[in-house]
Amino acid sequence: MVILDMPRGIDPNNPMTHVPPSPGLQGFLGEEDYEALVKCVHCGLCLNQCPTYRANGLEPDSPRGRLYLIRAVAEGTLPLTDEVEDHLNQCLVCRACETACPSNVQFGQVMEAARHSILQERATPLRRALTWLAFRQLFPHPERLAFVGSLLRWYQRSPLPAVVQLASRFGIVPPRLALMEKMAPPLSDRFFETPTTERFASLGPARITVGMVSGCIMPLAFAPTNEATVRVLTANGCDVIVPRAQRCCGALASHAGDAPSAVSMARANIDAFETLGMDRLDAIIINSAGCGAQLKNYAHLLRDDPAYAARARRFQAKVEDVAEFLVRVGLTAPLGPVNRTVTYQDACHLVHGQKIKAQPRELLHMIPGVDLVEMKDPDRCCGSAGIYNILQPEMSSQVLEAKLENVVATKASCIVASNPGCLLQINMGLRDRGMDMTGMHIVDILDESITAARTSDPVHA
Ligand code: SF4
Ligand code: SF4
Repeated sequence: MVILDMPRGIDPNNPMTHVPPSPGLQGFLGEEDYEALVKCVHCGLCLNQCPTYRANGLEPDSPRGRLYLIRAVAEGTLPLTDEVEDHLNQCLVCRACETACPSNVQFGQVMEAARHSILQERATPLRRALTWLAFRQLFPHPERLAFVGSLLRWYQRSPLPAVVQLASRFGIVPPRLALMEKMAPPLSDRFFETPTTERFASLGPARITVGMVSGCIMPLAFAPTNEATVRVLTANGCDVIVPRAQRCCGALASHAGDAPSAVSMARANIDAFETLGMDRLDAIIINSAGCGAQLKNYAHLLRDDPAYAARARRFQAKVEDVAEFLVRVGLTAPLGPVNRTVTYQDACHLVHGQKIKAQPRELLHMIPGVDLVEMKDPDRCCGSAGIYNILQPEMSSQVLEAKLENVVATKASCIVASNPGCLLQINMGLRDRGMDMTGMHIVDILDESITAARTSDPVHA
C-alpha cells in the first residue's frame, strides 16, 4: 500500500486550509469540474462513509484526501505520479461521500474527469488498446457482446473452469486470470433479445407507454430479470417498447475515464429512442442502478454538443429506475404471497447516485409474506463497482467481507438488490462462504408475487 503525504500547503485537520488557485489548471480538469471540486471545505464529514478509508484509515484514500490530490495536480503543485494514480484508482466511485457532503461536492463528476485526464496522459499502449477494444469495439455492439457471451457460456458449461481453478492452486494459471475467471458473471441459458418484437403489450388495457433500456450485461447474465421486468410492467398496465438499436449506456466507459466512448453511446441511445417515438413515452425504465445513474447524467455528458444537448435533457427527464416508476404510478396487478425473509442492499448508484432509498422498500412491504430485515449499513458499497473487483481485488474483498458480515447477521434467506454488479459480487461472496442464501433483483420477487396471485400458488423459501 502506498502512503502519500498530503501536498504542501494542505492540512487535512484544518478546514480553512486554502491553496490559491493557479492561473491555469494544467489541462487536468475543466473549469466546471474544478468549480465542483473547490466546494470542498475539508470538513471530513464524508470520511467515515468512505469504504476505502474505513478499510485502511489513510487520508489519501478518503474522499477529502482524493479531492486534495486532484486539486493539487490540477493546480500544478503536485506531479501526477504512480502514487497519486494508485490512490485515485482505489476509489470505488460509490458516491457515498456525495450523500454525506454538506457542500454538495459532486465527487463522481470530479473523479471521472480526473480519470479521463489520467487515461489521456499516462495510459500505457496496452491500456489504450484494451480501452479501445472494450469501449469502441465491444460494448457499443450488442451482437458482438452476445457472440462473446455465447463463447463464455460454452466455456462455463464445460469442465474447463474446474481445471483452471485447480491449475491456479498449483500456480500454473496467473492469479489475476484465475480471479477474472471466478468473477465472470454466470451467463443465462437464454439471452434477453428482442428478435421478433420491440413492443410488449400491456396485459390489460394500457394506461401507460414506457421505453425500456435493456442494458449490456443484463441481457447476457440476467436475462430472466429483464424478462421479469417486462412481465411486471405489462402486468401493471404498461405497453413496453425495447428499441433494438439501443446500446450500452456508457457507464463503464465513464468510470474508466473514456468520456468520448460514453458520449458516443449516449448519442446512439437517444437516436434509438427517438426513432421509436420518444415523445409518446411516459418514462424510460431501467432496472440496473449503475446504468440508471449514467442515463440520468446524459444532459451533463452532452451539455456542449449543439446537436444533442436539448435532446439529452428531454431523454434524461424521462429516465426512471423501475422501483421509482412502479411506486410513482402505483401497482395495479394483484400480489400473491411470497414467504421469504429478505434483506435489502442499497446499490450505491441507486441510493447515492439517484437518491432512491424508500421506493424499493415500499415495494417489498407491499408483497404479502415478505419479511424485510434491515442489515447494518445497507447503503455501504459491496466492493463490486463495475470491474473494480478485478482491478483492485484486495480492497474489493475487504469491502465485501464487511458487507457479508452484515448480510449474514440478518439470517435472511435472500438478499434483494437492484444492480447486476451487486448481485454478482454478493452471490460470489456467499458461494465462497458456502452460504445457502441467494441474491435476487427486486423485479424478480415482484414477478414471483404477481405469478403467485395469478396461480393462487404461494412461494415458500
Ligand atoms: S466515491 Fe466512494 S470510495 Fe470514492 S472517495 Fe467517495 S466514498 Fe470513498
Ligand atoms: S464532506 Fe464534502 S466538504 Fe466535507 S470534506 Fe468531504 S467532500 Fe469536502
